[in-house]
Amino acid sequence: MIDNDLLKDLKQDINKAHHIAFLTGAGVSTHSGIPDYRSKNGIYQGVSQSPEQLLSDETLYHQPEAFYQFVMKNMYFPKAQPNSIHQKIAQLCNEKGDLITQNVDGLDKKAGNKHVIEFHGDLYDIYCTTCGQKFSYDEYAKHMRHEKDNGIIRPGIVLYGEPIDQKRLYASVAAVQSSDVIIISGTSFVVYPFAQLLAYRQQNAKVWILNNTPLAQQPDEVKAIIADARDVFSQL
Ligand SMILES: [Zn+2]
Repeated sequence: MIDNDLLKDLKQDINKAHHIAFLTGAGVSTHSGIPDYRSKNGIYQGVSQSPEQLLSDETLYHQPEAFYQFVMKNMYFPKAQPNSIHQKIAQLCNEKGDLITQNVDGLDKKAGNKHVIEFHGDLYDIYCTTCGQKFSYDEYAKHMRHEKDNGIIRPGIVLYGEPIDQKRLYASVAAVQSSDVIIISGTSFVVYPFAQLLAYRQQNAKVWILNNTPLAQQPDEVKAIIADARDVFSQL
């Protein structure tokens, strides 16, 4: 059951907000049939490997087949469609907000959101690591190497061992700093440095968590609605 008083407060905060920052993670896209890859292991040459190992720059360059197999099987769902959460967030962002998402699935852009910062990049930004040529998903699904120069093809996502893109980091910090309301959904908020973004909030910013589980570290002044986020967003 969603607490009606809390829901009323949330609606009021959203209506009064000058600028809203949404921070989202995998939990938003699982409702579109995209599994959280952090819960997946890969098996390569009979050895089980964690997603952290597989999604590293080291694996990309030294075991490119293992990397390719893992992302194709566990991360690419090109037919997935945005759900009601992506859509509601898109509507609010286009009106007066920014979304900072950990998701790399492109569903927020598909939902029409014009204010998306993809903190960890975009799976569908695919390029050759040797010459930089871009590829479509369909081409990548056929070949893991560029035929012309044998370069390894990769998605433009931040791998373990790689830094966050500075431009995206600064844009995210600016979005949080300029927001009087911050809404976090679909993330347990443990992934560094994403989780650090909240530290840049305005002193009086109102912070909301719309999650089916509480955060690992929840600041005191935060209001939380612990429920299926679809049920919450559908009432906003
Ligand atoms: Zn190339």
